[in-house]
Amino acid sequence: MVADSWIGPRVRFSCAQCGECCRLYWVPVTHRDIERISHRTGLRPADFTAPIPKSVVGEWGLPSFLLDDGEHYLILRKRLDGFCVFISPEEGKFRCAIYDARPLTCRFYPFVYISGEPIRFELAEDAPALCPGIGRGPTVSFGSVARFAVQREKELEEYKALVNRWNRLVLSGAVRPSFEVYLDFLLSPPP
Ligand code: SF4
Ligand code: SF4
Repeated sequence: MVADSWIGPRVRFSCAQCGECCRLYWVPVTHRDIERISHRTGLRPADFTAPIPKSVVGEWGLPSFLLDDGEHYLILRKRLDGFCVFISPEEGKFRCAIYDARPLTCRFYPFVYISGEPIRFELAEDAPALCPGIGRGPTVSFGSVARFAVQREKELEEYKALVNRWNRLVLSGAVRPSFEVYLDFLLSPPP
């Protein structure tokens, strides 16, 4: 998958900072996303991530890790009102407090991509009804987001390898399958 090979719809978009996508969705993250956020904020990964059970949310097509109560995905925490913990409301706008270090997943909405060559971008199914940014601003050029799609696919492969290693350790009884230990493993995997 190469970043300069992409196709996408001809559509105008400029984020209206309504915050709806940051309220509605769970944001899956990888070890690289949490490294960047920790570096940017000084927060411990346990302060802004959580495990979400696969039995509750279903198949996401992402690596799931074992804890003592089954398979989970790694996500950003939410506030009680449903917004991501990093939302920053200000004068009626909902800004991202970690914008330059936000997870790669956050960089695509209201579009989704299908990996391949070329990378194909499409409007997310719910976006026309949900996102007031569509139809505002200039026609989207997908060059810069295509770069993030390539990066995300690479980091997902790394993450998948880590998750596979973790799951093997859990199944062999070599680690305590707690979320705390999983986060330590992700950020300092044993050689
Ligand atoms: S729903 Fe659209 S306009 Fe609102 S914050 Fe998300 S991308 Fe921006
Ligand atoms: S990290 Fe930022 S862009 Fe992503 S969901 Fe949270 S507030 Fe929104």
